[in-house]
Amino acid sequence: MSNIIRLLPDHVANQIAAGEVVQRPASVVKELIENAVDAGATEIKLILKEAGKTLIQVIDNGKGMSETDARMAFERHATSKISTAEDLFALQTKGFRGEALASIAAIAHVELKTCLKQAELGTHVVIEGSKVVSQEVAVVPEGTSFSVKNLFFNIPARRNFLKSDTVEFRHIVDEFERVALVHHNIHFILLHNGSEVFNLPASNLRQRIVNVFGGKTNEKLVPVKENTDIVTVEGFVGKPEYAKKSRGEQFFFVNDRFIKSGYLHHAVLSAYEGLLKEGVHPTYFIYLNLPPDTIDINIHPTKTEVKFDDEQALYSILRSAVKHSLGQFNVTAALDFQR
Ligand code: ADP
Ligand code: MG
Repeated sequence: MSNIIRLLPDHVANQIAAGEVVQRPASVVKELIENAVDAGATEIKLILKEAGKTLIQVIDNGKGMSETDARMAFERHATSKISTAEDLFALQTKGFRGEALASIAAIAHVELKTCLKQAELGTHVVIEGSKVVSQEVAVVPEGTSFSVKNLFFNIPARRNFLKSDTVEFRHIVDEFERVALVHHNIHFILLHNGSEVFNLPASNLRQRIVNVFGGKTNEKLVPVKENTDIVTVEGFVGKPEYAKKSRGEQFFFVNDRFIKSGYLHHAVLSAYEGLLKEGVHPTYFIYLNLPPDTIDINIHPTKTEVKFDDEQALYSILRSAVKHSLGQFNVTAALDFQR
Protein backbone atom coordinates (compact mmCIF):
# COMPACT_ATOMS: atom_id res chain seq x y z
CA MET A 1 0.00 0.00 0.00
CA SER A 2 1.32 3.40 -0.88
CA ASN A 3 1.44 6.34 1.53
CA ILE A 4 -0.74 9.29 0.67
CA ILE A 5 -0.22 11.84 3.45
CA ARG A 6 2.04 14.82 2.77
CA LEU A 7 2.75 18.22 4.28
CA LEU A 8 0.98 21.10 2.58
CA PRO A 9 3.22 23.57 0.77
CA ASP A 10 3.73 26.77 2.81
CA HIS A 11 1.69 29.02 0.57
CA VAL A 12 -1.30 26.68 0.88
CA ALA A 13 -0.94 26.40 4.65
CA ASN A 14 -0.68 30.20 4.86
CA GLN A 15 -3.79 30.67 2.80
CA ILE A 16 -5.73 28.33 5.09
CA ALA A 17 -4.44 30.13 8.21
CA ALA A 18 -5.38 33.44 6.60
CA GLY A 19 -9.00 32.36 6.67
CA GLU A 20 -8.86 32.54 10.46
CA VAL A 21 -6.75 35.65 10.85
CA VAL A 22 -8.15 37.84 8.08
CA GLN A 23 -11.91 38.08 7.87
CA ARG A 24 -12.08 41.55 6.35
CA PRO A 25 -10.00 44.71 5.85
CA ALA A 26 -10.46 45.60 9.53
CA SER A 27 -8.57 42.43 10.52
CA VAL A 28 -5.56 43.60 8.50
CA VAL A 29 -5.77 47.04 10.09
CA LYS A 30 -5.81 45.52 13.57
CA GLU A 31 -2.78 43.32 12.93
CA LEU A 32 -0.70 46.05 11.29
CA ILE A 33 -1.48 48.67 13.92
CA GLU A 34 -0.74 46.24 16.73
CA ASN A 35 2.60 45.43 15.13
CA ALA A 36 3.37 49.16 14.98
CA VAL A 37 2.51 49.50 18.67
CA ASP A 38 4.73 46.51 19.51
CA ALA A 39 7.54 48.16 17.53
CA GLY A 40 7.49 51.07 19.98
CA ALA A 41 6.11 53.66 17.57
CA THR A 42 5.13 57.08 18.92
CA GLU A 43 3.26 57.96 15.75
CA ILE A 44 1.10 55.62 13.67
CA LYS A 45 -0.63 56.66 10.49
CA LEU A 46 -3.35 54.61 8.82
CA ILE A 47 -4.14 55.41 5.20
CA LEU A 48 -7.15 53.77 3.54
CA LYS A 49 -8.76 53.76 0.14
CA GLU A 50 -12.27 52.42 -0.36
CA ALA A 51 -12.56 51.11 3.18
CA GLY A 52 -9.34 49.17 2.76
CA LYS A 53 -10.55 47.23 -0.25
CA THR A 54 -7.99 48.91 -2.51
CA LEU A 55 -5.42 50.13 0.01
CA ILE A 56 -4.51 49.68 3.64
CA GLN A 57 -1.28 51.36 4.58
CA VAL A 58 0.17 51.64 8.07
CA ILE A 59 3.22 53.85 8.60
CA ASP A 60 5.02 53.86 11.93
CA ASN A 61 8.13 55.45 13.39
CA GLY A 62 8.98 52.37 15.44
CA LYS A 63 12.20 50.42 15.59
CA GLY A 64 12.11 49.06 12.04
CA MET A 65 13.51 45.73 10.82
CA SER A 66 16.83 44.46 9.52
CA GLU A 67 17.11 43.18 5.95
CA THR A 68 16.86 39.56 7.07
CA ASP A 69 13.98 40.19 9.48
CA ALA A 70 12.08 42.02 6.75
CA ARG A 71 11.95 38.71 4.89
CA MET A 72 11.55 36.48 7.96
CA ALA A 73 8.59 38.52 9.18
CA PHE A 74 6.45 36.90 6.47
CA GLU A 75 7.26 33.32 7.48
CA ARG A 76 4.57 31.47 9.37
CA HIS A 77 5.15 31.18 13.15
CA ALA A 78 8.03 33.64 12.82
CA THR A 79 8.02 36.13 15.66
CA SER A 80 10.44 38.23 17.68
CA LYS A 81 7.98 38.46 20.57
CA ILE A 82 8.12 35.11 22.32
CA SER A 83 10.57 32.25 22.24
CA THR A 84 9.36 29.76 24.85
CA ALA A 85 5.98 28.45 25.97
CA GLU A 86 6.56 30.13 29.34
CA ASP A 87 6.60 33.50 27.59
CA LEU A 88 2.92 32.97 26.84
CA PHE A 89 2.19 33.55 30.52
CA ALA A 90 3.99 36.86 30.66
CA LEU A 91 3.05 38.56 27.41
CA GLN A 92 4.13 42.16 27.08
CA THR A 93 3.15 42.51 23.43
CA LYS A 94 -0.01 42.51 21.33
CA GLY A 95 1.32 39.91 18.92
CA PHE A 96 2.91 36.57 19.69
CA ARG A 97 1.59 34.07 17.15
CA GLY A 98 3.79 35.10 14.25
CA GLU A 99 0.90 34.41 11.91
CA ALA A 100 -0.45 37.75 10.82
CA LEU A 101 2.02 38.82 8.18
CA ALA A 102 2.31 35.33 6.68
CA SER A 103 -1.48 35.21 6.45
CA ILE A 104 -1.90 38.69 4.99
CA ALA A 105 0.86 38.11 2.43
CA ALA A 106 -0.87 34.89 1.33
CA ILE A 107 -4.03 36.68 0.25
CA ALA A 108 -2.96 40.15 -0.86
CA HIS A 109 -0.25 42.22 -2.53
CA VAL A 110 2.02 43.50 0.20
CA GLU A 111 4.77 46.07 0.08
CA LEU A 112 7.06 46.55 3.06
CA LYS A 113 9.48 49.43 3.52
CA THR A 114 11.47 49.36 6.71
CA CYS A 115 14.56 50.94 8.18
CA LEU A 116 16.24 50.46 11.55
CA LYS A 117 16.86 53.53 13.71
CA GLN A 118 19.84 55.53 12.48
CA ALA A 119 20.56 53.13 9.64
CA GLU A 120 21.41 54.73 6.33
CA LEU A 121 19.69 52.17 4.21
CA GLY A 122 16.55 50.18 4.65
CA THR A 123 14.75 47.36 2.90
CA HIS A 124 11.96 47.25 0.33
CA VAL A 125 10.10 43.94 -0.04
CA VAL A 126 7.22 43.12 -2.38
CA ILE A 127 5.22 39.92 -1.78
CA GLU A 128 2.16 38.72 -3.66
CA GLY A 129 0.27 35.60 -2.63
CA SER A 130 3.19 34.39 -0.45
CA LYS A 131 5.68 34.79 -3.31
CA VAL A 132 8.52 37.27 -2.94
CA VAL A 133 8.42 39.44 -6.06
CA SER A 134 11.39 41.56 -5.07
CA GLN A 135 13.59 42.50 -2.17
CA GLU A 136 16.08 45.30 -2.42
CA VAL A 137 18.08 47.75 -0.38
CA ALA A 138 16.47 51.19 -0.47
CA VAL A 139 16.53 54.62 1.09
CA VAL A 140 13.42 54.71 3.27
CA PRO A 141 12.45 56.66 6.40
CA GLU A 142 13.20 55.17 9.83
CA GLY A 143 10.38 52.94 10.95
CA THR A 144 8.10 50.71 8.94
CA SER A 145 5.44 51.06 6.28
CA PHE A 146 3.19 48.21 5.16
CA SER A 147 0.92 48.65 2.15
CA VAL A 148 -1.69 46.00 1.55
CA LYS A 149 -3.47 46.06 -1.80
CA ASN A 150 -5.94 43.80 -3.59
CA LEU A 151 -7.03 41.98 -0.45
CA PHE A 152 -8.43 38.51 -1.20
CA PHE A 153 -7.28 38.76 -4.84
CA ASN A 154 -6.89 34.97 -4.89
CA ILE A 155 -9.99 34.15 -2.83
CA PRO A 156 -12.97 35.43 -4.86
CA ALA A 157 -15.48 34.05 -2.36
CA ARG A 158 -14.02 36.20 0.41
CA ARG A 159 -13.80 39.23 -1.83
CA ASN A 160 -17.44 38.93 -2.82
CA PHE A 161 -18.43 38.49 0.79
CA LEU A 162 -17.12 41.97 1.69
CA LYS A 163 -19.86 44.41 2.67
CA SER A 164 -20.34 47.99 1.47
CA ASP A 165 -17.57 50.52 2.06
CA THR A 166 -19.64 52.09 4.82
CA VAL A 167 -19.89 48.82 6.71
CA GLU A 168 -16.26 47.80 6.17
CA PHE A 169 -15.08 51.28 7.17
CA ARG A 170 -17.14 51.06 10.37
CA HIS A 171 -15.36 47.80 11.25
CA ILE A 172 -12.01 49.47 10.64
CA VAL A 173 -12.90 52.46 12.82
CA ASP A 174 -13.93 50.04 15.59
CA GLU A 175 -10.50 48.37 15.50
CA PHE A 176 -8.71 51.71 15.22
CA GLU A 177 -10.57 53.15 18.21
CA ARG A 178 -9.90 50.07 20.34
CA VAL A 179 -6.15 50.45 19.92
CA ALA A 180 -6.25 54.26 20.20
CA LEU A 181 -8.21 54.04 23.46
CA VAL A 182 -5.44 52.01 25.07
CA HIS A 183 -2.35 53.66 23.66
CA HIS A 184 -3.18 57.27 24.43
CA ASN A 185 0.54 58.10 24.46
CA ILE A 186 0.77 57.34 20.75
CA HIS A 187 -0.19 59.89 18.10
CA PHE A 188 -2.69 58.23 15.73
CA ILE A 189 -3.84 59.53 12.36
CA LEU A 190 -6.47 58.02 10.08
CA LEU A 191 -6.95 59.13 6.47
CA HIS A 192 -9.73 57.70 4.32
CA ASN A 193 -9.94 58.47 0.59
CA GLY A 194 -7.71 61.47 1.14
CA SER A 195 -9.56 63.06 4.04
CA GLU A 196 -8.53 63.08 7.66
CA VAL A 197 -10.99 61.18 9.86
CA PHE A 198 -8.94 61.14 13.07
CA ASN A 199 -5.92 63.04 14.27
CA LEU A 200 -5.32 62.06 17.89
CA PRO A 201 -2.28 63.66 19.46
CA ALA A 202 -0.56 61.91 22.35
CA SER A 203 -2.49 62.78 25.51
CA ASN A 204 -3.82 61.44 28.79
CA LEU A 205 -6.56 58.82 28.82
CA ARG A 206 -9.46 61.16 29.49
CA GLN A 207 -8.39 63.52 26.71
CA ARG A 208 -7.97 60.59 24.32
CA ILE A 209 -11.51 59.38 24.98
CA VAL A 210 -12.81 62.90 24.41
CA ASN A 211 -10.77 63.24 21.19
CA VAL A 212 -12.20 59.99 19.87
CA PHE A 213 -15.83 60.50 20.85
CA GLY A 214 -16.17 64.28 20.78
CA GLY A 215 -16.04 67.23 23.17
CA LYS A 216 -19.38 66.53 24.82
CA THR A 217 -18.06 63.24 26.20
CA ASN A 218 -16.01 65.00 28.86
CA GLU A 219 -18.88 66.00 31.13
CA LYS A 220 -20.34 62.49 31.03
CA LEU A 221 -17.35 60.72 32.48
CA VAL A 222 -16.88 59.67 36.08
CA PRO A 223 -13.50 58.15 36.99
CA VAL A 224 -13.29 54.61 38.34
CA LYS A 225 -10.32 53.40 40.36
CA GLU A 226 -9.71 50.32 42.47
CA ASN A 227 -6.56 48.51 43.45
CA THR A 228 -6.55 44.94 44.78
CA ASP A 229 -4.18 41.97 44.66
CA ILE A 230 -6.34 40.36 42.01
CA VAL A 231 -6.86 43.29 39.70
CA THR A 232 -6.46 47.02 39.27
CA VAL A 233 -9.45 48.77 37.78
CA GLU A 234 -9.14 52.12 36.06
CA GLY A 235 -11.10 54.14 33.58
CA PHE A 236 -14.40 55.95 33.35
CA VAL A 237 -18.09 55.22 33.48
CA GLY A 238 -20.80 57.44 32.06
CA LYS A 239 -23.20 59.26 34.33
CA PRO A 240 -26.57 57.49 34.22
CA GLU A 241 -28.42 60.50 32.85
CA TYR A 242 -26.25 60.35 29.72
CA ALA A 243 -27.03 56.71 29.00
CA LYS A 244 -28.18 56.22 25.42
CA LYS A 245 -30.63 54.13 23.44
CA SER A 246 -27.83 52.80 21.27
CA ARG A 247 -25.21 50.53 22.74
CA GLY A 248 -22.02 51.98 21.38
CA GLU A 249 -19.50 53.24 23.84
CA GLN A 250 -18.86 50.24 26.03
CA PHE A 251 -15.28 49.08 26.28
CA PHE A 252 -13.35 46.60 28.37
CA PHE A 253 -9.59 46.36 28.16
CA VAL A 254 -7.56 43.71 29.90
CA ASN A 255 -3.81 44.24 30.15
CA ASP A 256 -4.02 46.75 27.32
CA ARG A 257 -6.14 44.65 24.98
CA PHE A 258 -9.74 45.22 23.99
CA ILE A 259 -11.88 42.28 25.10
CA LYS A 260 -15.53 41.30 25.12
CA SER A 261 -17.15 39.82 28.18
CA GLY A 262 -20.83 39.39 28.79
CA TYR A 263 -20.05 38.47 32.37
CA LEU A 264 -18.13 41.67 33.16
CA HIS A 265 -20.69 43.71 31.24
CA HIS A 266 -23.27 42.35 33.63
CA ALA A 267 -21.12 43.36 36.59
CA VAL A 268 -21.06 46.97 35.37
CA LEU A 269 -24.76 47.02 34.58
CA SER A 270 -25.61 45.67 38.01
CA ALA A 271 -23.74 48.62 39.54
CA TYR A 272 -26.17 50.93 37.74
CA GLU A 273 -29.12 49.13 39.28
CA GLY A 274 -31.96 51.56 39.89
CA LEU A 275 -30.13 54.41 38.19
CA LEU A 276 -31.04 53.86 34.54
CA LYS A 277 -34.27 54.51 32.70
CA GLU A 278 -35.79 51.65 30.72
CA GLY A 279 -34.00 50.72 27.49
CA VAL A 280 -30.86 52.84 27.77
CA HIS A 281 -27.23 51.72 27.89
CA PRO A 282 -24.51 53.31 29.98
CA THR A 283 -21.16 54.32 28.54
CA TYR A 284 -18.06 52.76 30.04
CA PHE A 285 -14.34 52.57 29.43
CA ILE A 286 -12.94 50.03 31.89
CA TYR A 287 -9.27 49.13 32.00
CA LEU A 288 -8.38 46.03 34.00
CA ASN A 289 -4.88 44.95 34.82
CA LEU A 290 -4.25 41.46 36.14
CA PRO A 291 -1.13 39.40 36.73
CA PRO A 292 -0.50 37.78 33.31
CA ASP A 293 -0.39 34.29 34.82
CA THR A 294 -4.01 34.64 36.02
CA ILE A 295 -5.44 35.16 32.54
CA ASP A 296 -5.42 33.28 29.25
CA ILE A 297 -5.76 35.33 26.10
CA ASN A 298 -4.67 32.51 23.85
CA ILE A 299 -8.10 31.04 23.27
CA HIS A 300 -8.97 32.69 19.95
CA PRO A 301 -6.86 33.97 17.03
CA THR A 302 -8.49 37.38 17.09
CA LYS A 303 -8.06 37.42 20.85
CA THR A 304 -11.15 39.30 21.99
CA GLU A 305 -12.04 36.71 24.61
CA VAL A 306 -10.10 36.13 27.79
CA LYS A 307 -10.29 33.41 30.42
CA PHE A 308 -9.85 34.62 34.00
CA ASP A 309 -8.73 32.42 36.90
CA ASP A 310 -11.02 34.07 39.41
CA GLU A 311 -13.96 35.40 37.46
CA GLN A 312 -16.27 35.75 40.45
CA ALA A 313 -13.87 37.89 42.46
CA LEU A 314 -13.35 40.06 39.41
CA TYR A 315 -17.10 40.49 39.06
CA SER A 316 -17.51 41.63 42.65
CA ILE A 317 -14.54 44.00 42.60
CA LEU A 318 -15.64 45.60 39.35
CA ARG A 319 -19.23 45.95 40.47
CA SER A 320 -18.30 47.61 43.73
CA ALA A 321 -15.73 49.90 42.08
CA VAL A 322 -18.32 51.19 39.61
CA LYS A 323 -20.97 51.50 42.30
CA HIS A 324 -18.56 53.45 44.46
CA SER A 325 -17.75 55.88 41.63
CA LEU A 326 -21.38 56.43 40.75
CA GLY A 327 -22.18 57.05 44.42
CA GLN A 328 -19.20 59.24 45.11
CA PHE A 329 -20.01 61.57 42.28
CA ASN A 330 -23.50 61.84 43.61
CA VAL A 331 -25.14 60.86 40.38
CA THR A 332 -27.96 59.13 42.25
CA ALA A 333 -29.14 62.41 43.70
CA ALA A 334 -28.89 64.13 40.33
CA LEU A 335 -31.18 61.55 38.79
CA ASP A 336 -33.72 61.64 41.63
CA PHE A 337 -33.89 65.38 41.23
CA GLN A 338 -34.78 65.01 37.56
CA ARG A 339 -37.66 62.67 38.17
P1 ADP B 1 3.61 38.66 15.68
O1 ADP B 1 3.16 40.08 15.79
O2 ADP B 1 2.66 37.70 16.31
O3 ADP B 1 5.03 38.45 16.15
P2 ADP B 1 3.44 39.12 12.82
O4 ADP B 1 3.28 38.18 11.68
O5 ADP B 1 2.41 40.16 13.02
O6 ADP B 1 3.59 38.23 14.14
O7 ADP B 1 4.86 39.83 12.69
C1 ADP B 1 6.04 39.04 12.59
C2 ADP B 1 7.26 39.81 13.08
O8 ADP B 1 7.56 40.88 12.20
C3 ADP B 1 7.09 40.46 14.44
O9 ADP B 1 7.34 39.56 15.50
C4 ADP B 1 8.08 41.62 14.38
O10 ADP B 1 9.38 41.17 14.74
C5 ADP B 1 8.11 41.97 12.90
N1 ADP B 1 7.28 43.18 12.62
C6 ADP B 1 6.03 43.20 12.13
N2 ADP B 1 5.57 44.44 11.98
C7 ADP B 1 6.56 45.27 12.40
C8 ADP B 1 6.71 46.70 12.49
N3 ADP B 1 5.71 47.52 12.14
N4 ADP B 1 7.89 47.18 12.97
C9 ADP B 1 8.90 46.35 13.32
N5 ADP B 1 8.82 45.00 13.25
C10 ADP B 1 7.67 44.46 12.80
MG1 MG C 1 1.52 40.85 14.84
